[in-house]
Amino acid sequence: MTHLRLDDRFARELPELAVRWKAEEAPDPRLLVLNEPLATELGVNADWLRTPDGVRLLVGNSVPTGATPVAQAYAGHQFGGFAPRLGDGRALLLGEFVGEDGRLRDLHLKGSGHTPFARAGDGLAAVGPMLREYLVSEAMHALGIPTTRSLAVVATGRRVQRETVLDGAVLARVASSHLRVGSFQYAAATGDRDLLRRLADHAIARHHPQAAEAPHPYLGLFEAVVSAQARLIARWMLVGFVHGVMNTDNMTISGETIDYGPCAFMDVYDPETVFSSIDMWGRYAYGNQPAVATWNLARFAEALLPLLADDLDEAVGMAEAALGAFARQYETAFTAGMRAKLGLSAADEAAAAPLLDELPKLLVDNHIDYTSFFRDLGRAARGDAEPVRGLFVDLAGFDAWLNRWRELAPDGAAMDRVNPVYIPRNHLVEEALTAAAGGDLAPFDRLLSAVTGPFDERPGLQRYAEPAPEEFGRYRTFCGT
Ligand code: AMP
Ligand code: MG
Repeated sequence: MTHLRLDDRFARELPELAVRWKAEEAPDPRLLVLNEPLATELGVNADWLRTPDGVRLLVGNSVPTGATPVAQAYAGHQFGGFAPRLGDGRALLLGEFVGEDGRLRDLHLKGSGHTPFARAGDGLAAVGPMLREYLVSEAMHALGIPTTRSLAVVATGRRVQRETVLDGAVLARVASSHLRVGSFQYAAATGDRDLLRRLADHAIARHHPQAAEAPHPYLGLFEAVVSAQARLIARWMLVGFVHGVMNTDNMTISGETIDYGPCAFMDVYDPETVFSSIDMWGRYAYGNQPAVATWNLARFAEALLPLLADDLDEAVGMAEAALGAFARQYETAFTAGMRAKLGLSAADEAAAAPLLDELPKLLVDNHIDYTSFFRDLGRAARGDAEPVRGLFVDLAGFDAWLNRWRELAPDGAAMDRVNPVYIPRNHLVEEALTAAAGGDLAPFDRLLSAVTGPFDERPGLQRYAEPAPEEFGRYRTFCGT
């Protein structure tokens, strides 16, 4: 297929949440990166996407047949404070389409110009942050973590004023939808119960069809989202991913990771790790993510209350009982994942438990690089314990742990299938983006190729597996760029 045929299901079913809008014309569009494997998966001809017509579509200069681009309305709690009207300030939903696999997906543009939701923002995005989202989202996908995908980044030829003047870009994003907790908060705040019901029905049909069969479909929807988010956050925690801005408008109903702003991977293990320059109090620190997800889901439950029961106390009781499942499901997913990272099977559950409990303190006390630790531990499972022992200062303490772990006969090959060797390390991301800003995309392409094959150690990529050099210092990321 060359020409993408887009549906306008969201705009049709939920017109109150959709403002028809057009992208700002990009004066000089230039394709920077195209995700050919994703294009193929979607059934879109990658060669056509590279043509001037294809690039015009990817940057928003032309609207595909049948499409009704809209800016989506949503609300959200940002750092705990409620903002009743956020919405797509610099993004558009072009429409939905069915991929080769029969799944329905959104095609969405980010950085496509200001919309009625832009408030004080300019509606634009710079090349660096859009390449950053592309890189990190594709790394997450390669790690097997549910996420929105990146189809392309197109430089617009427009200048964007930030601290300095930068080159503008548009990211073409693919997602199973862009429904957020904030979408429900917006619908609930209108007081229009019919709209809220239509939104919930739309979400059930698209993401959690089994809820339609439940005795109470809207409670079923809530339970399904709780469960999807519990599994998602466990996956983040297992790879050391810090989202950085877990506002309720950045939490999906599908259970996909969305909105790669100030996110970064933790290097040295520390639950208090925060990278975002605006997260002054560490609300979205690595170790707080499960608690914050629970808090966000409580806001989701509040929005759903009118659909749960006519009696408020009854509705609250139902929501509280369902939310209680988060902690259990998170713990189950995290513990099983951590056992797998240690090369142990479910049969080792009882023996593994104290090892799992003691590990965080060992990692914190010895300032251990989280990703290197598990990969080096895999070598220890195969008989070479020196690399992992070399990471520790308190060797006696670690050896005691190591010996007990070895008695369980961990499977080193299985460990290498779940413990990445290449992640988007902060210093490598910065290096790649700095080069890209100067017009050299080669470092970006090399890093992308490393992190999209995260488990296969390859010759010549050693520096992509190493922690940042000392002089890189403390890393800071910036939001809303
Ligand atoms: P975020 O937390 O980055 O997902 O964005 C929060 C809100 O700010 C959303 O409503 C965005 O659409 C909006 N926003 C972020 N950056 C801009 C921008 N440069 N122009 C207009 N709106 C923006
Ligand atoms: Mg957002």
